Amino acid sequence: MNSEKIIIIGGGVSGITTALTLQLLGCQTEIYTEKKAENIADKNTHPEFASLFPSASVIPHSVYSNQLEELFQSSQSFFYELRKRSFPGLTLQKHFEVFEFEKDRPEYGDWMMNFNSLEEFHPREIPRRSLSQDVYGWAFDCIFADWPLYFPGLITLYKESGGEINQRKIQKREIPSLPADIIINCSGTGSPDLFDDPVEKQMILKGHLLHKPEASLITNSNDEIISYNYTPKASIYSDSSGNACDVYCYPRKDGWILGGSRESGFLDNNDSETEDSPIENTRAYKIDSLDIPSAVIDLNQEILNTTFGHSLEQSDKLSALMGYRYIRNKENGLRLDHETLDGKTVYHNYGHGGAGVTLSWGCAIHLANKIISLKRSQMQSTLLDRLEEIMFDKKT
Ligand SMILES: Cc1cc2nc3c(=O)[nH]c(=O)nc-3n(C[C@H](O)[C@H](O)[C@H](O)COP(=O)(O)OP(=O)(O)OC[C@H]3O[C@@H](n4cnc5c(N)ncnc54)[C@H](O)[C@@H]3O)c2cc1C
Repeated sequence: MNSEKIIIIGGGVSGITTALTLQLLGCQTEIYTEKKAENIADKNTHPEFASLFPSASVIPHSVYSNQLEELFQSSQSFFYELRKRSFPGLTLQKHFEVFEFEKDRPEYGDWMMNFNSLEEFHPREIPRRSLSQDVYGWAFDCIFADWPLYFPGLITLYKESGGEINQRKIQKREIPSLPADIIINCSGTGSPDLFDDPVEKQMILKGHLLHKPEASLITNSNDEIISYNYTPKASIYSDSSGNACDVYCYPRKDGWILGGSRESGFLDNNDSETEDSPIENTRAYKIDSLDIPSAVIDLNQEILNTTFGHSLEQSDKLSALMGYRYIRNKENGLRLDHETLDGKTVYHNYGHGGAGVTLSWGCAIHLANKIISLKRSQMQSTLLDRLEEIMFDKKT
């Protein structure tokens, strides 16, 4: 086991998961973070802090990496193990991805459990706007992290494992004097200010969300929880390049999370965004001072009503959020490499786009493998044993 201290910069899901992984494997870790999720009252004032916003399904959407399959499979299998051990907030959902036009099977089709074409389902089971509408696509089982339960659970576990969280903003000039030889950079959109990044124009995808509180779980006749992404024809909802956009719904214990939008833009030098291609459909509802694309309410309303008999109205007590998915670039946006700086080894773990929760365990285990020499299978069993010990200690 490794007793030398490791510093992790960033207190989002990547930082906490990476620090927890190393801590469970016997390292001494400390997180330095400018912002802590639990201290932020108005999330909409910090759209760049992505871990305030995830929906958070474990599906590799809106992310670009040439290691995606390995990272996703490792993450997903760890989430399944955590769920078996009743880790807070982890549920299994039957997730539908429905299109009003023909669509090729996605690469991740081979990685998801019980992946089936929509042809395998009774028409009434498929989320759709009207029963006469032709729809295409697939469905699979996916892990869903009920965020208000999962993320606090993760932070608590990190502290219980002996990890420390120190709230402070790190400046670039401080890096050489940080008291550790290994630094892990999980600072998300803060990264280009702290470290040199070869990508010139740092891409983000803005995402709008609505929360409808106290809405019941959406289930099918087998009592499976149902969630969906639904992409209508581009004439109904599209971006400025004419690409069809999707809406979605994920039921949580505290209500529904409804999306969405994927508006591309770029970080400027102050980490605020500059707009590139806003959603074409300018119709919007003003909710909590945000312009929410009207399709998020109108299309979800049709789907929820037609398929499940549920209602959604603009007059419901809806709250609105908008955050950035940090894509970095569309070639190989996820940065998971390392460099030597002033005698320190810096490992980077940022640019997860819309899949930072999805890949959190895969990236953490990948980095732990670089730092600690343990066989992968041994690493997973050590992590789970230690995690069970802490969770069991808590119950007794
Ligand atoms: C609308 C929306 C929906 C999403 N849905 C999903 C989903 O369904 N599934 C999924 O997997 N993902 C989803 N995501 C993406 C996911 O939220 C992100 O990928 C993930 O939260 C990124 O986490 P992170 O820890 O890497 O970065 P962040 O959460 O941005 O954290 C960065 C941390 O670094 C700290 N920091 C920055 N600079 C400094 C500095 N100089 N010194 C000290 N600390 C610093 C910040 O304070 C913060 O704590 C969604 C995102 C959005 C916006």
